[in-house]
Amino acid sequence: MSEDVLPFDDTRDFDDTERGFIARATTRTITDTEGRVVWDLDAYEFLDDAAPDTAHPSLWRQGQLLIRDGLFEVVPGIYQLRGFDLSVMSVIEGDTGVIVIDPLISKETAAAAFALYQEQRGPRPVVAMIYTHSHIDHFGGVKGIITEGDVDSGRVSVIAPEGFMEAAIAENVFAGTAMGRRAGYMYGAALAKGPRGQIGAGLGQTTSTGEPTLIPPTIDITTTGQELTIDGVRIVFQITPGTEAPAEMNFYFPDHRALCTAENTSHTLHNILTLRGAVVRDARTWAAYLTETIDLWGDELEVVFASHHWPTWGRERAVEFLSMQRDMYAYLHDQTLRMMNQGYVGAEIAEMMETPPALAAQWHTHGYYGSVSHNVKAIYQRYLGWFDGNPAHLWQHPPVAAAERYVAAMGGSDAAVAVARRAVDDGDLRWAVEVLNHVLFADEHHADARALQADALEQLGFGAENGTWRNFFLSGATELREGNFGTPTTTTASDLITALTVEQILSSVAIRIDGPKAWDEHLVLSFVITDEDQAYVFELRNGTANHRPTAAPAPDSTTLTLERRVLIGLMVGRVDLAAAVAAGTIVVDGDLADIGRLVAVLAPVDPGFAIVTP
Ligand SMILES: [Zn+2]
Repeated sequence: MSEDVLPFDDTRDFDDTERGFIARATTRTITDTEGRVVWDLDAYEFLDDAAPDTAHPSLWRQGQLLIRDGLFEVVPGIYQLRGFDLSVMSVIEGDTGVIVIDPLISKETAAAAFALYQEQRGPRPVVAMIYTHSHIDHFGGVKGIITEGDVDSGRVSVIAPEGFMEAAIAENVFAGTAMGRRAGYMYGAALAKGPRGQIGAGLGQTTSTGEPTLIPPTIDITTTGQELTIDGVRIVFQITPGTEAPAEMNFYFPDHRALCTAENTSHTLHNILTLRGAVVRDARTWAAYLTETIDLWGDELEVVFASHHWPTWGRERAVEFLSMQRDMYAYLHDQTLRMMNQGYVGAEIAEMMETPPALAAQWHTHGYYGSVSHNVKAIYQRYLGWFDGNPAHLWQHPPVAAAERYVAAMGGSDAAVAVARRAVDDGDLRWAVEVLNHVLFADEHHADARALQADALEQLGFGAENGTWRNFFLSGATELREGNFGTPTTTTASDLITALTVEQILSSVAIRIDGPKAWDEHLVLSFVITDEDQAYVFELRNGTANHRPTAAPAPDSTTLTLERRVLIGLMVGRVDLAAAVAAGTIVVDGDLADIGRLVAVLAPVDPGFAIVTP
């Protein structure tokens, strides 16, 4: 939407980000034990200035709101720590201690946030931890606040929606390398912070880069209406699987008249399909659960808060906020389907979709994190997939082969660059980057093409209202100018790896098999997992490995008897096979060389794969 309809006279968000302010931390720079900076909100102080012409004023405003950090009272007894990470942590005071909701991404940022709470509100012990959903920015910092010992001893319960562990692991491990590389682009991790660089990600400023941790839940929330009283605090839950995350829940504090909506509502249009890549979400289910939320508590709630951004106070405003958020997802879903059934394809619907004026007049429906454009394509994808039905698109050349042909048709690289330069001069940056992308995929060292593509992507970034679009455009420009920055943030958190089930470990191995190299290999391995009293058979044939639980090792197979954590160590290279066999932590029955044959067909992953060049 165009800038002239932005509702700049509506400044209530600025009031809401200040409301209930108690204190700010003495430093907004958080470091790990080695002194490495893992979070730096001070770096965003430039956002206090007026929007420059290198940033969309709407995204700039969102950044200004997101740097209002500190400890805030939502209502007496409920507090929020904002500006300590991409996400927000909430603290509920009980009779003797506190319940913590969503301990951020890294243990360092979670510890710093909780320290500010304790400094201001006293050293109350943690009696429960709630994870609203299975994304890492809602559990990763848990060990900055509690220990495994706290949970094992029963001092602290850990509450999460059913299916949490499976979703948390599946989303972060199987496609982890590719998602991690793309997440580096999405959050602008390699960009300098500043008016020409990273100014935020819409949902929060960026992701912290400390140590992510995980303590598995001890209490599953399985049904809507399920109620718990923890340390005198009553909580009523609504499960919302398949919304913003595969495992997610909203919950209500009846004695505070306060509703926590996890990440099902936020002060942005959220993602139906996040640009880092994920399984596409269901906008229809998402909207339907929000209708249920309003039905459950809309008559009594006085405030709605979530795990990103700031709360909305007052029953009428809160319900209107929930309803507008709901309407946005429902509208995008229904209108995409309407146009799909009229024969339009995703790229067309994305251009045709107009936001209803009453929704566009709300800041929180603007696309700072998700966008109308990419959400519409995601909805199309969910129903109809990658193919638009046009046979001309059924068997297209892949990028390099197509690029060589396009560039030849335009009269060679220099002529194609001239076409792009004219497009830049005409203000058609979208066409310019498409033409230049072909030049770079045909001739990646063409200096003029690289320079012009970097400039064109940068201009697109400067004009983007969406934080993640800006970061993608500027990251592409940066790699063209300065070279590949790889994956700047941690992707394989050890706690997440440690939480893998045996079946997930064996699947992770299967994912790494170099198919063609293993075509002629046939191997049967058995694993006896002593601490789980369970055996598995793993068979490699036709370049693929299948596994299944079994009562006993397969006859004639090489059998490894070991604990689950040793199997994990083996797979991530932390356990040396020969040393473990010598030490007796792995007992091998059969031919040890079979393990070598498996290792020989495993391929490395590439966290620095090329994106803007072939
Ligand atoms: Zn989140």
